[in-house]
Amino acid sequence: MNTIIIQADEGVLKEVDLNTASKILKAGGLVAFPTETVYGLGADALNPMAAEKIYEAKGRPADNPLIVHIANPRNMEQIASEIPAKASKLAEVFWPGPLTMILKKKDIVPFSTTGGLNTVAIRLPADRIAKDIITCSGGFIAAPSANVSGKPSPTKAEHVIADLGGKVDMIIDGGKTTLGLESTIVDMTSNEPIILRPGCITKTMLENVIGNVEYDKAVLARTLENNIIPKAPGMKYRHYAPEGSLTIYEGNIHHVVSEINKKAKEYVLAGKRVGIIATEETQELYKHGIIKSIGRREDEDSIAAGLYAVLRDFDDIHAEYIFSESFSRSDLGQAIMNRLLKAAGYRLIRVG
Ligand code: AMP
Ligand code: MG
Repeated sequence: MNTIIIQADEGVLKEVDLNTASKILKAGGLVAFPTETVYGLGADALNPMAAEKIYEAKGRPADNPLIVHIANPRNMEQIASEIPAKASKLAEVFWPGPLTMILKKKDIVPFSTTGGLNTVAIRLPADRIAKDIITCSGGFIAAPSANVSGKPSPTKAEHVIADLGGKVDMIIDGGKTTLGLESTIVDMTSNEPIILRPGCITKTMLENVIGNVEYDKAVLARTLENNIIPKAPGMKYRHYAPEGSLTIYEGNIHHVVSEINKKAKEYVLAGKRVGIIATEETQELYKHGIIKSIGRREDEDSIAAGLYAVLRDFDDIHAEYIFSESFSRSDLGQAIMNRLLKAAGYRLIRVG
């Protein structure tokens, strides 16, 4: 398939390109576009055949439901059969933004979009290009991350092109995404809202608006405990996996650096290709392997934004072993560590 690749300058899509994208989507095709979290692979969420194309292009397991993206909060009522007061409150405060809510679905949402579930995941993104596309293409766009399943989510158009070039109708290049981590997912179908996937809208931020919110047990897991089944079907897969074997070192940062230096030296001497995930503050302290800074320790937002690109960079250079520092577990740190631990297959070593 010939994939049309379009450049959007300064975060806005030209009208002619917007028309092309919307024609493709209305006809059941696939268009990848930026959102503030990661790039999404869009299809008409109410057209079962279009939704199925997403699974095929991504190699996504059929039981892993898609998030339906809307551009107008009122459209929530057309696809959700019950909207609890707390959900309306969260929509009011956090939309547009990186928050996805799970609600009971109406019949108009096909089971191919919801992976056979009676619930539907809904988000209203903030990105201008995403909103324009959704508005001009019927208002309900399923848009999972625009990567091949199992790869790190794409934060740049070149990641999307590498994974899906030739497999989708159109890719819109809107530059680097600002947040870099997928949306926070909250299940609003039970009395007590449950965070199924941590993200940039943190537990504290949610609780400030609606009171107590719980984490799904699987979110807090620090090992691969096989008796915990995540409530978000997609969270059970080994996501975000780099090609190389990734190990996270946790503890006092001086001990972590010295342990990683020791390991890196040992593996480099053994002829292995070694990558190190460092930070602005620590990168100068490493002596062996290929060192990449993920962001500034002092600024967790920058770490969230840099994570996936660093994992992909290490794939590009075929790093065989990757050693990473760990990050705090407060608020946003929870989301960062959730992704990093999954990428590492939960290989975490405490030092010091
Ligand atoms: P992605 O769009 O690739 O970031 O992945 C979407 C995530 O949302 C996956 O982990 C899905 O399992 C989750 N999800 C989507 N719809 C539902 C739903 N109805 N119930 C629970 N989780 C959902
Ligand atoms: Mg994904």
